[in-house]
Amino acid sequence: MRHIAQFFALAGALIMMAFGTQANAASPGFAEPDMDYIRVAPSEQMDLREALTSDRWQSLEGESPNFGYIRDTVWLRVPVSTIPSDRKLLEIRYPQLDDITFYLMENGVVRQRISTGDHLPFAQRQIRHRNFLFSFETDPQSDYQVLLRIRTQGAMQIPVRLWDPRTYFEATSIEDQMHAIYYGILIMVIFFNLFIFLALRERMYLLYVLSTLSYLMFIGSLNGSTYQLLWPESPWLHNQAMVLAVPVALIFTLLFSRAFLNLRVTSPRMDKLVWYTVLVNVAVAVTTFVTDYSVASRLTVALAIPSCLLLTVMGPIQWIRGNPQAGYYTIAWGLLTLGSAITAANKYGFVPNSFVTAYGIEIGSALEAILLTIALAARLYQEREGKVRAREAEITAMAARRSAELRLIEQALHNPLTGLPNRACLEMTISELINREPDKRLSIAVIHLSNLPAITKTLGHRNTDRLLELAARRFNSIVSELPGICTVETTDQQSFYLASLESATFGFIVEADVISETPRAIVRALEEIRKPLDYLGMQLPLDPHTGSAIYPDHATDTNTLIRRAFIAQGSDDARDRGLAYYQPSRDSYSADRLTLVSELQHALQHGELALYLQPKLSLKTREVVGLEALIRWPDRKKPIPADELIALAEQTGLIKPLTRWVLENSLELRARLLENGYPLNISVNISPNNLREPDFPLYVQRLMSSHHTHRGAIILEVTETSMMQDPVNSLRALNSLHTTGIPLSIDDFGSGYSSLSYIKRLPASEIKIDRSLITDLASQAGDRVIVQTTIEMCHSLGYAVVAEGVESSETMELLEKMGCDMIQGYILTPPLPFDDVIVWLGDYKHHGRGRKLG
Ligand code: C2E
Ligand code: CA
Ligand code: CA
Repeated sequence: MRHIAQFFALAGALIMMAFGTQANAASPGFAEPDMDYIRVAPSEQMDLREALTSDRWQSLEGESPNFGYIRDTVWLRVPVSTIPSDRKLLEIRYPQLDDITFYLMENGVVRQRISTGDHLPFAQRQIRHRNFLFSFETDPQSDYQVLLRIRTQGAMQIPVRLWDPRTYFEATSIEDQMHAIYYGILIMVIFFNLFIFLALRERMYLLYVLSTLSYLMFIGSLNGSTYQLLWPESPWLHNQAMVLAVPVALIFTLLFSRAFLNLRVTSPRMDKLVWYTVLVNVAVAVTTFVTDYSVASRLTVALAIPSCLLLTVMGPIQWIRGNPQAGYYTIAWGLLTLGSAITAANKYGFVPNSFVTAYGIEIGSALEAILLTIALAARLYQEREGKVRAREAEITAMAARRSAELRLIEQALHNPLTGLPNRACLEMTISELINREPDKRLSIAVIHLSNLPAITKTLGHRNTDRLLELAARRFNSIVSELPGICTVETTDQQSFYLASLESATFGFIVEADVISETPRAIVRALEEIRKPLDYLGMQLPLDPHTGSAIYPDHATDTNTLIRRAFIAQGSDDARDRGLAYYQPSRDSYSADRLTLVSELQHALQHGELALYLQPKLSLKTREVVGLEALIRWPDRKKPIPADELIALAEQTGLIKPLTRWVLENSLELRARLLENGYPLNISVNISPNNLREPDFPLYVQRLMSSHHTHRGAIILEVTETSMMQDPVNSLRALNSLHTTGIPLSIDDFGSGYSSLSYIKRLPASEIKIDRSLITDLASQAGDRVIVQTTIEMCHSLGYAVVAEGVESSETMELLEKMGCDMIQGYILTPPLPFDDVIVWLGDYKHHGRGRKLG
């Protein structure tokens, strides 16, 4: 709206200047003489003499002669006495006339004859001016008269003025300034939009430049300036430019208008109409080259009327339809069309000559040019505003996207159920802690709720979810009390010490050196964690197993640390005691272990394993009563302790074929013992996993019955703690072995938490007291008490007692005094290969029995 106000201010100023000039022009200095005329039809002829004597002269009665488009020759008779000065100037203010002959008659005689017109080169003119000027002198004594003979193919208008030459140049200079202002405005508009076009490369601005330029050419041709300045040598070009200017201006203006109003989008039908009008104008423009000036000029002006009408109506129509550009357009084109219409009407002779009618098109086009330039600038402003708004919207969208991203990151780092940080978050925290203080030892712990699947099956997933939430909150607060605990994440609201690793698994980090100094805190926390959860009035045992891996002892990278804590969590120790540390020897998942597994498999299949034998001595008789078969893997570069080898076999399922191999080999060894004259028992170690094999008792029975000579001579050793993992099934298996006559021995007795009531039910005949209680028996009084009571208790239950790991004669003597039945240990010999055992046995038979062992 501001622009429209500016426009009206400008337009007002321009109109005032226009009328101001007219007022100036009306001041004395020229005369518009009362003239007489004769129209001579093209078919007639009339020379000067005939004209002078003709009685066809008619008065114009003060009117300016304007005959419109006629083919007649017009004679004008101009009285010149109205101007007082001797020097006089006659001006015809219409530069388009083709052919003018000027006659100055002095007392009825021709004094001066000048031929001119725009069909002759410009240079030929008496006074080189865009209008036709004729200068002459008069003598007050004589009688003068000017006769003009005019022929033209265009509009026949002959606005004649008589001037005192002095005042003429004053008035003319003002008028030229007016024109200069007009041209200046248009040239300014042209350059302004040209620069915009060059900057933006938007076709619309170029079309506007071309449209304005063609108006400039049109007006310049109309008032003779282009002829004077651009092509004074070429009347043809001048005339051609004159007839071409209108259609060319219309073509570019139509093209500009459809771009400006965006008709292709807003009104496709009107767009089509505009295109047709453009095509007709192009056709007319082409026609001007082949038709004569008269036809061409009439045609172009005739076509200009509907074209301008179209340009005028499409503004308001678009305005009504809400096209934001149409307001400017309508006003601009309204003014131009008005100006053009006034000029056109003036050409056809409908309206008399005046400044406004003569310059209507100029005033209109100047106003139009200014207004549209403002509109284009406004459009530019709007577009920039639009871009700014779009940019703002983009920034808002970006901010929204960013916060969504943050939410996603937050989600990506948290467990949706427990709200705790997740594994990724824990990993990040661990890496951060390690990076910050690489020398600080860290314990990475994993808590797995092993009873959760059972609870889910009983109570359903929804309750499990709820339970997990409760457990998460409780465990978080329990571990937060641990000395040396590290926060996984701190938010504004709270600190998290616990992370959710998997649905039923949590993780946390403690400084290993700090926590190891306070073992009671660990025990207390473990107790708290293992307490059943109170849920809906039920006491639900979650049976949590905790495993831990230490940085940098067990691994130095986050991934391996967590993985190893998981392995520890899955170990038997974690199951039995609630907490276990990672043990590399028990890790069946490391890459080394994987190759070891395949090597063990290979060794088993290709008989690379061996059985060593360790004698068992009766303390009463001092006789060797049996041998224990112990597995060995002799030809390995890096020897593997038997218990590690067995643990590996247990973890990988190889224990089944391994035990079978041991049993079958033991039978073979026993056969060879018999051959050598030693009818000794052989004790074979059985893994608890074997007891879980459903067909194990059957297998043993079959084996024994096919080797009936060894019946009762193969003793199976089972560790006490191992049976506690699955007491019911172990007992069932042992019972069924026992009933088929296979003697059983309870191995490693006293190393774990014994349940005497359970042991009482075992169908064993022998108990082996664990090495850990025996080896230091001589120095440990406490151990002596335990061993003594164990021996007595076992005897009372009817078991024979074997002490293993006897290394010194003191220990042997102590055990003898305590009433122990048998011993095993390095005091006799370490386990030996079969051939060495035969040698040892022979040796012992001949020398050893009598001598003091040790
Ligand atoms: P174990 O059944 O308790 O076997 C006795 C272990 O004590 C043997 O270790 C033996 O070499 C060792 N030993 C014997 N006398 C002494 C002594 O005076 N001092 C010390 N310090 N140690 C002594 P080994 O052979 O390394 O076997 C370790 C464990 O591996 C065995 O403990 C047993 O549980 C298991 N194992 C060995 N062979 C087999 C097997 O064929 N099958 C199964 N299932 N387990 C086996
Ligand atoms: Ca054993
Ligand atoms: Ca043992």
